[in-house]
Amino acid sequence: MKNDGLIPGLASADPPLRKPKWLRMKRQGGEDYNDVKRLLRSASLNTVCESANCPNMGECFNSRTATFMLLGEVCTRHCTFCNIPGGRVAAIDPDEPRRVAEAVRELALKFAVVTSVNRDDLPDGGAAHFASTIRRIRRLNPGCGVEVLIPDFLGDPVALETVLTAAPEVLNHNLETVPRLYNDMRPQADYRRSLQVLKRSRQWADSFDADIRVKTGIMVGVGETRDEVVDLMKDAADHGVRIMTIGQYLQPSLKHHPVLRYVEPAEFDELAVVGRELGIEWVESGPMVRSSYHAREQSAALASSLSREL
Ligand code: SF4
Repeated sequence: MKNDGLIPGLASADPPLRKPKWLRMKRQGGEDYNDVKRLLRSASLNTVCESANCPNMGECFNSRTATFMLLGEVCTRHCTFCNIPGGRVAAIDPDEPRRVAEAVRELALKFAVVTSVNRDDLPDGGAAHFASTIRRIRRLNPGCGVEVLIPDFLGDPVALETVLTAAPEVLNHNLETVPRLYNDMRPQADYRRSLQVLKRSRQWADSFDADIRVKTGIMVGVGETRDEVVDLMKDAADHGVRIMTIGQYLQPSLKHHPVLRYVEPAEFDELAVVGRELGIEWVESGPMVRSSYHAREQSAALASSLSREL
């Protein structure tokens, strides 16, 4: 029987699958790791690394990188795969962009990644706060690249343009999973709306000749089929995506969406080949890959290929 990646009938009440050996977490702790933690606490900054309990946190903090999370620790959405709590959201902290920029300087980052919780309660979804953070980072850290991992801003093109005008090197918006699973996993999101965010970003960048690379990412092992992943990659390529990440979903707790399958490393490699054949220039695909994993390397590789073309 063809194994299409879907395990029918496996519900959250089933016992969790045993983690395979290729998914062992790297060691946390060490001088740089503790240093980064101390710096984040003293500046009252959040990172998605900690909030999402990312399996690469040890590796990233030890190489003095982190993904800053703006606009509080509480989200207005309730994605069933995500460890970030929903509930009462905090007021915007207008000083946060300055503190992020200073942390980037303290960590001597050459490439900063910034994301946020979803803030559907704000008129612009937090777009102006993103733009201000990008500009502050630039002003204080000349030469530092910036990637933003943005929400969908409820499809508001003006909010999106506010972020694009601040000219991040990379505009990332994650599709997260295949459209069939949106109701279960991203009930307040919309696959077509997310594709429009990507397409509008690419069109805006092309029309202003701005070197902004459009990126997306998904998790696998949540119940998708291989054919659905290939269709999603086709959609991503058709909507202007140049960089894509594919990683294994890990269940944050028993209350979250279950892992339905641990995808083999060879399958990740094969998906990367398919994605490139479909026209996505850089596909980072592997069990431990997360949205901002190797972000600087991806961006630098595309920048140098662009300069070779010119
Ligand atoms: S919108 Fe983002 S931060 Fe909010 S619950 Fe969903 S994945 Fe988590």
